[in-house]
Amino acid sequence: MERNIQTQTKKLAAGTAGSIVVDRCQICDSARLDPVIFIGYLPPVNAMPTIGTRPAEQPAYPAQVLCCRDCQLVQLGLIVDPAILFPPEYPYTSGTTRILRDNFAELSREVASLYPLNSSDLVVDIGSNDGTLLSNFSSRGPVFGVEPTQAGELANKRGIPTLISFMNRQAVHTAIHRAGKAKIVTATNVFAHIEDVHEIVECILELLTEDGIFISESHYLLSLIETVQYDTIYHEHLRHYSLTSLNHLLEMHGLEVIHARRIPTHGGSIRVYAARKGKYPVRKSAHEILKIEATELTFEKLSSFRSRVVQTKLDLYALLKGIKSKAERIYGIGAPSRASTLINYVGLDDGILDCVLEIQGSYKVGKYIPGTLIPVLEESRLFQDQPDYALLLSWHIGAELMPKLVSRGFRGKFILPLPDPQVVR
Ligand SMILES: [Zn+2]
Repeated sequence: MERNIQTQTKKLAAGTAGSIVVDRCQICDSARLDPVIFIGYLPPVNAMPTIGTRPAEQPAYPAQVLCCRDCQLVQLGLIVDPAILFPPEYPYTSGTTRILRDNFAELSREVASLYPLNSSDLVVDIGSNDGTLLSNFSSRGPVFGVEPTQAGELANKRGIPTLISFMNRQAVHTAIHRAGKAKIVTATNVFAHIEDVHEIVECILELLTEDGIFISESHYLLSLIETVQYDTIYHEHLRHYSLTSLNHLLEMHGLEVIHARRIPTHGGSIRVYAARKGKYPVRKSAHEILKIEATELTFEKLSSFRSRVVQTKLDLYALLKGIKSKAERIYGIGAPSRASTLINYVGLDDGILDCVLEIQGSYKVGKYIPGTLIPVLEESRLFQDQPDYALLLSWHIGAELMPKLVSRGFRGKFILPLPDPQVVR
């Protein structure tokens, strides 16, 4: 086991200025990787040329999803150097949707009821962004954030002590020196992005007290399958976790899952509690989810997912064809990373989608959607221009979004592209 972990860490895309093909499972090092779906060649989601510039040479990376026959990890078949995916000029801002804020508040309540903390127990958040998650724990006792982007400065200003750094051994030592060992370590929506997943688990182990608990939240494979979320497939997402595959990873490092629960963030995520083996009773919830996954995440189910993805592409195209044949206007709403996958996979261009709208102040305004000449414009255009249709590219928060846009004056119809393309008014 140990040998496998080491073999794997040798081959990293980081620092190559290119990409590497995944020929061994990212968790268990098995070579038995079965293809699940190929979404095509995708441009990096942050490659957004300024409106008006002539199209120039630009890379595109194959997005093939593979499933490991030995540990069931569903993973991307190509890893791109993070320096390409996360260029320094890419100002990451955390999504501050109501669902995310509510989720963090709910997480702190769940911790308080299941694993009550003393006032001296430290909570550390990895990828803590502007400190939103930790602010839910800070009135109770000490907190500490580790965040690579400048969002960490915002956290420091609001009184959430934050180390501006990537998570690595050095960061662990600094965190322990400044704040001590942690009773709780959280990592929400970062676990699928980091290339060397074994290194990060080892860092977490070092950071945790003997009876410490690690809580991760990741986009959930079963939600992806159920609601055909192929648009979450892009090169930032190296792995699409199930509890089965996460369990496998954690066990390799002497941890065990003690509690797990499905949560609504990002269109369906899974929250997993883990601790050193034998420290806490394993709750029924963990067994129940593993049992469901054994029947719902078979290779047959993954094959039918592929057919559904193809069908939903054809259906969306047919729906848009009907609208464009009447010369009606369609504006896209929201340019999250997943929008780039949907637009490129379905093959939408500026003749079909007139533009995509983003909130005022977004760095994406004034740029083209990657791989297209579809301009990203300010959201106010929706109310000025009143297009016939608004295609919701953040369709997973459609229920939150639609009433807001209507109350602000949009009079057209909405198109939800997934899971089944449909018009809503
Ligand atoms: Zn594997």
